[in-house]
Amino acid sequence: MTLTRSPTSVVPPRLSSSVSPDFVEPAYLSVPDGFDPNRTLGPEVAAVATLAGFPPDPEQRFCLDVSFGLDKRGRFLVFETVLIAPRQNLKTGFEKQRALGKLFVCDRPLQVWSAHEFETSRRALLDVEAMIDGSGILRKQVRLTARGKVASHGAVPEIVLNSGATLAFRTRTAGGGAGLTGDDLSVDEAWAAQSGQMGVILPIMLARANSQVDFLSSACRPESAFLWDLVQRGRTGGGPRMFYAEWCAPPPEEVCDLGGKCDHHRATPGCGCDKPEVIVLAHSAVTRGRIELEKVADLRRTMPEDEFPREIMGWHDEPVDGLIGIPAAVWAARAGADGKPAGPVAFALSASWPDAAMGSIAVVGQHGHEVYAQIVTTDEHGLLHKPGTSWMPARIKELVEKYKPVAVILDDKDPAAIEKAAIEKAGVEVTSLTSTQAGQAYGMVIAAVMGDAPYLRHYDQPELNAAVASAMKRPVGNAHTWTRKGPDDISPIVAVTDALFGLATHKPMTPFALLG
Ligand SMILES: [Zn+2]
Repeated sequence: MTLTRSPTSVVPPRLSSSVSPDFVEPAYLSVPDGFDPNRTLGPEVAAVATLAGFPPDPEQRFCLDVSFGLDKRGRFLVFETVLIAPRQNLKTGFEKQRALGKLFVCDRPLQVWSAHEFETSRRALLDVEAMIDGSGILRKQVRLTARGKVASHGAVPEIVLNSGATLAFRTRTAGGGAGLTGDDLSVDEAWAAQSGQMGVILPIMLARANSQVDFLSSACRPESAFLWDLVQRGRTGGGPRMFYAEWCAPPPEEVCDLGGKCDHHRATPGCGCDKPEVIVLAHSAVTRGRIELEKVADLRRTMPEDEFPREIMGWHDEPVDGLIGIPAAVWAARAGADGKPAGPVAFALSASWPDAAMGSIAVVGQHGHEVYAQIVTTDEHGLLHKPGTSWMPARIKELVEKYKPVAVILDDKDPAAIEKAAIEKAGVEVTSLTSTQAGQAYGMVIAAVMGDAPYLRHYDQPELNAAVASAMKRPVGNAHTWTRKGPDDISPIVAVTDALFGLATHKPMTPFALLG
């Protein structure tokens, strides 16, 4: 279910009994349909947090209920919890309460708390230790604490209970995901999370039974391509295993006198940034009495003018470029194609930008209500990749003769088009795409991967997975397409996209109307 702020309550009626009258509603909320407020460990976790001297706010209480929700088999309902709010309000507190719950209620073997900066993860460790120390009942269950002596000082940054349940604190360094996978992962400061790193970690987490990943962040910065994608997904429904809650001010169009044209500068009259009644909507801590509106007014005078809208109002900076096309976790979940597709197939050719150093041929075939997509081998020896494109004309001729595809797509704008003349000379008829069709093709592959049936299924091929992980989208008119301008070879996913379009548009009387 998706709910956005409106004159009526955004809290679903079936949840409203559990929240207090002054509950500050999130601007965007997405709760899995299967959530049952009577089937959650939230109240037990709230009791442990209260024991530790840190009772949850009503907003945190609500988030604990949903994030600790269970399915009918008693497993966690939610895989991804995404909590977006301005600093000093509720999200880090929520995550500390959640960490206590994972330790003392769930006995989780290994949860990893990660932050972008060393100092943030150290602070979180000290805070959780202090919370445990606040309760004799909790303290006596602890076997090992780090006492704030993190790795650089020779101690292990972990809290270990007698039960074996462990909470480890890590700093995310650029690159690999070593040390970041456990049964549970907290991604604090998620605005700094890197797509490449998350692309390695999330499929591993998703494959673990009953694992959970939490993303905590203030609003997106220009470099927050990964978080931006989560925000777009969460605001549009999230999916069956995502819990998304975002606290922010209503958009400038609604609260600034100049609407979307407001520059939010201090001298600009009627800016929403100067309206206390707007600020309280983004800051639940004002209602809880922990933040004073005068302090926010002070910040308005001292904080850089371009940071206040993002940090205090929760208005996201859009990424400058490099938007992720397909989130890694979603792609990983689409693996599982088995055997050859039963229905008709289409091929497409693509090569890496800009010099066609690598070429890819994709085949997409209908299989019942699904479409199977894969990169075909460059020859009978099973190689998926071979330098250059000179092998492509002979290979596509061979494939066409063997599989009789409904279409072979070769976009004139693709670097592989250098082989077009040779391919046509070999007797293979190819179809190019207009810019509009390229946008439609992109929309089709996204719908088939993320959206409704027919689902795309793939064969978990490393080359295709790598291309998806590094493929970024760029706007073209009102649509998007893949951007080829990057260091990585994305030709495998470009070829799959074009082949899907070829199949959908060259085969009449099929269920593909759904894809259009
Ligand atoms: Zn404004």
